Amino acid sequence: MDLEVVTVGTELLLGFTIDSNAADIARALAEVGVRVVRRVTVADDEAAIRDAVAGALRRSGTVITTGGLGPTSDDRTKRVVARLFQAPLELDESYLEELTHRFAQFKRGPMPPSNRSQAEVPQGATVLPNRRGTAPGLILDGPLGTVVLMPGVPHEMRVMLNEQVLPLLTARREASGEPALVIRSRTLRTTGVTESGLASALMDAEGRLESVSVAYLPGVAGVDLRLTARRLSASAAEEALDRASHHLVSLLGARYYGRDDTDLAAVVLDALRRRDQTLAVAESCTGGLVGERITAIPGASDVFLGGTIAYANASKVRDLGVPAALLESEGAVSEAVALEMACGVAQRFRATAALGVTGIAGPGGATPGKPVGTVWLAGKVQHRERAVGYRIPGGRREVRGRAAQAALDLLRGLLVPE
Ligand code: ATP
Ligand code: MG
Repeated sequence: MDLEVVTVGTELLLGFTIDSNAADIARALAEVGVRVVRRVTVADDEAAIRDAVAGALRRSGTVITTGGLGPTSDDRTKRVVARLFQAPLELDESYLEELTHRFAQFKRGPMPPSNRSQAEVPQGATVLPNRRGTAPGLILDGPLGTVVLMPGVPHEMRVMLNEQVLPLLTARREASGEPALVIRSRTLRTTGVTESGLASALMDAEGRLESVSVAYLPGVAGVDLRLTARRLSASAAEEALDRASHHLVSLLGARYYGRDDTDLAAVVLDALRRRDQTLAVAESCTGGLVGERITAIPGASDVFLGGTIAYANASKVRDLGVPAALLESEGAVSEAVALEMACGVAQRFRATAALGVTGIAGPGGATPGKPVGTVWLAGKVQHRERAVGYRIPGGRREVRGRAAQAALDLLRGLLVPE
């Protein structure tokens, strides 16, 4: 079963709003075996909306739209589609009552007259109640085909899609007798290896994977591998993904740290917890990013004691006990200082594990022999210590983000000996 998506909104065309609705819809439909074959975005303009919806109906017979259902003058989708289906708008008394009731519950004062228009429904349309907002969704069926209209507000749209539209489309696909061929994806997360390094390590294996394609997605956290199984039954897709991930994970070794949304910080916290360790961090160039990553994980408090942002040299001396002479002789961005930072923070917080991060995030601050992106990281777990130096490419954001990720990875390496 194929369909097209029309997203309505001038702000989408201007690029002020990213069209997350079209992406959410395509992903969700693929899961249940319905294929989005075309996406179009148009302005809040009657002729543009009519042309887009009519064209999509001619080609595919089924269209999903989002946006333009609200009470304001720029919300035109419902009126346009009603006219296309020659379905006059009628007041849905029960929806009006519900709206009035909800206004009485949540808002001060009476319902503005403009909201009354939201209870107007094209004749014969199915109303999809909107639990999160005031604009109901609508389904129009007619000789032209089927149009599903949903609100533009992303969280309202998602709830309506999952709770009402997906079950309905699944039922229609089943009734049509078409087999459910789904698209399923899974992500394997790696860090500490470049995209090309990964590609050459997996080159042979990749060609032999059955029914699964691999996409390389590099980012600040590392390179994610997205495995996708297309046009298979749901169980065959899951089996193909299981087989492929099992094989690739065995080839990736320590470079692999988790599946899907797994954060390296959670993996590290988990490993520390299982070994009854406590953690403190000393950060210079990352300015608290490592601590932020760790404290974003629920339940971090049983492992993470705290940290020190020691940005100035004076703070490294006063708050972490780094010897001033060492800063003078080695420079703040050095192996020795990173190690002193980790040891100092471990001692001050009475932690059994620690990290020290120091580097030059740029764009200024480079010195001879130490270009922008030079970073020294030190990790310590009980008496085991390790320091690594990197030259991280990219701008300030990349250097800081990659340094935080590499620091967490250093700790992981100390906890899970390779
Ligand atoms: P409302 O009843 O709130 O007016 P609506 O159905 O009329 O809802 P719009 O007015 O088009 O929807 O958009 C409401 C909000 O949702 C806006 O902030 C808009 O930026 C956002 N939005 C609309 N369409 C999309 C989209 N395709 N992707 C992401 N956000 C969107
Ligand atoms: Mg609106």
